[in-house]
Amino acid sequence: MRLSDSLTRRKQELPPPPGPIGMYFCGPTVYQRIHVGNARPYVFSLWLRRWLHEGGYDVKLVENITDINDKIYEAAARKGIRSDELARAATRWYVEDTDALGLGRPDVEPLATESLPEIVALIEDLVARGLAYESGGDVYFRVSAFPDYGVLSGADPDAMIAQEPSELKEDARDFALWKATKPHEDTAWDSPWGRGRPGWHIECSAMAEKHLGRAFDVHGGGLDLRFPHHENELAQSRGAGREFARTWAHNGMLRLDETKMSKSVGNVLPLRDVLERWGREALLLFFLGAHYRNWIDFSEEAMDAAAAEAERFRNAFREQERASGPSREWNDFVAVLEDDFATQKALAILHEWRSSGRLDLLRRGLGIFGLETLVHDEEPPPELVALARSREEARARGDFGEADRIRDDIAKRGWEIRDLPNGFRLVRVR
Ligand code: ZN
Repeated sequence: MRLSDSLTRRKQELPPPPGPIGMYFCGPTVYQRIHVGNARPYVFSLWLRRWLHEGGYDVKLVENITDINDKIYEAAARKGIRSDELARAATRWYVEDTDALGLGRPDVEPLATESLPEIVALIEDLVARGLAYESGGDVYFRVSAFPDYGVLSGADPDAMIAQEPSELKEDARDFALWKATKPHEDTAWDSPWGRGRPGWHIECSAMAEKHLGRAFDVHGGGLDLRFPHHENELAQSRGAGREFARTWAHNGMLRLDETKMSKSVGNVLPLRDVLERWGREALLLFFLGAHYRNWIDFSEEAMDAAAAEAERFRNAFREQERASGPSREWNDFVAVLEDDFATQKALAILHEWRSSGRLDLLRRGLGIFGLETLVHDEEPPPELVALARSREEARARGDFGEADRIRDDIAKRGWEIRDLPNGFRLVRVR
């Protein structure tokens, strides 16, 4: 199995099965309902775990929840509530919304608030090594003491703009590991440098090590995190003598085409609204159609097309199509996924199996991506079956007006009657 690595700019081979494989993905900062774009790294990480399990790997997937962050203090202040209350509520929303994707959960979902001893210990280690210094109750990473700074994002450290200007820094490029508590902040923890709270970057370095050890295989997250977040994680952990992540697998971002979005959708797209409108299968097929590293354009048209695609897969099983034609085999499907997880190529093979009636292969392939729900037709509720029977009776006595009225009534509830030579079938259409 090979994955593109942002650090070496080459594909890296994972160790052979059973591994074990440790994976750390950066999760959300919890202060509001998550955006549909936040679902992409979540979906990618869970698909990758499923695929590695399929290949006989022993996998541990850690995906953190950032519940200490400036954005949480700011959002809580705007709402006039405590920041820890907001973080707890938003953590519940995140779990609820990502549960609705139907892909299961990561093996460990650590919270920053539960990782303070490890975070403080890592900062102390960096101070002891001369890679960090205390200044006015804050602690900063000394970028000039880590010659490899910039290696991940490829940016020239001298050209980098200051990350949060402060007079307490020795050098504008330095970044905070620990921040002294401020009057408007309602949560703080004790440390050797006084009351305060950790910076975002050190939270991830400490949580990855706590759950995966000093070296692990894959570090994921959105491409927007490569600098400064991941550059800083790498500097902290490698500076402290850890090997840290061997492969950095970044996913591309979602681009919203605002001209194609209606007012009702707007440019803020909570995941749960997208799932409610188009369904989880449409969103998963939308993600499947692009390579994980690429940018992807989100629009209503693209989601409508993905929903239609889901329907084509469902129809293949409903009609038990027995068309025949050439198609590739399971080994071909394995080959495209083993080569940098090319899901867009895997999707093309799924369509070949659909159109050539290879339903056993199609069922197995869809299952890898949590799309086994496209295989089984939903049982119609008994009251709809009773309605459909009364339509049969109306037709039998020649009351076609009544029969049409019942058909429309059933359609309004999201089902369609398909007439068969000896009866009918109810099919869910939305
Ligand atoms: Zn992170």
